[in-house]
Amino acid sequence: MKRMDPVRTIDNAFFWDAAEAERLDIQACEACDVLWHPPRPMCPKCHSTELSPRTMSGKGKLYSWCMPIHPPAWGFEEPPIVALIDLDEGVRIVSNLVGVDPEAITNDMPVRVDFTETAKSKVPVFTSTDAGGAE
Ligand SMILES: [Zn+2]
Repeated sequence: MKRMDPVRTIDNAFFWDAAEAERLDIQACEACDVLWHPPRPMCPKCHSTELSPRTMSGKGKLYSWCMPIHPPAWGFEEPPIVALIDLDEGVRIVSNLVGVDPEAITNDMPVRVDFTETAKSKVPVFTSTDAGGAE
């Protein structure tokens, strides 16, 4: 069983293209230098439409997480760990935490991006840099 492919839109296509190439790109405003996620057609701070993707380090910290058990998540053999990740660059993103024992999860745990396959693509996930996630 594989995860569902991401749903592409005009605004988020760059994000999924980058993920397929195993890059974590985040939208940035050329006018005021703000980063944000998820992608949208206009800067949330200055309303500029001069936007461009920036490649992130892929490093961050775990802000919060949950493990939805019921109903079962479609496309997952085990319940996924849904995580809020604060990237080192200052953006918070929703992703999954993988390769980590749920009992070992702690607030502010250092994490790094990894990529997992979907039916026809790839999506970013995060893993601990402490628990066997060394580079
Ligand atoms: Zn702006």
